[in-house]
Amino acid sequence: MKRLRRLSPVVVAPLVVTFMAVVPLGIPVVLMVRAQRRWRLKRVAAEFQCTSCGNVVGKPGLDLADKAWREHLGALHGNELTARLRHVRWVHAICPTCEAAFAYVPSERTFVAAETVAAAHEKPPTESAGGDQSRV
Ligand SMILES: [Zn+2]
Repeated sequence: MKRLRRLSPVVVAPLVVTFMAVVPLGIPVVLMVRAQRRWRLKRVAAEFQCTSCGNVVGKPGLDLADKAWREHLGALHGNELTARLRHVRWVHAICPTCEAAFAYVPSERTFVAAETVAAAHEKPPTESAGGDQSRV
C-alpha cells in the first residue's frame, strides 16, 4: 500500500482509465477469437478422415482431445513445477475409433499426426528458454 501512495495521480489515472477501457473491449474480443477457432476446428474435424483407420474424426474427436487436455492439466495441478512450465497443446483431436492423436495446423487448416508436429518442434531443453515444456 505504501507504494501506491507514492505514485502520482497523474500516473495512476491514465493507467486506471486504460484498464477500464481495455477490459470491457478485450474480453469479448478474446471470446470471439476463441469461438472462431473452435468453429474452425469443428468444421475441419467434420471432414477430416483419420489417417490410421479412415473414419471421420468429427466433434467427438475434438471432445476426446479436450478431455485429455483437461486431465493433463488436472494432473499437473498442485505440482510445484507447474508454474515454471509453458503448456503447449499438441493434440487437438483424437480419433474416436482408433485413438490416433492429431494436431491442428492453422496455416494448412487441417490435422496432422501429433507425433509429426511434436517431432518437428522437438528441441533440447535450455535454461534460457524459460524451462521445460509439457505436451499433450
Ligand atoms: Zn482412427
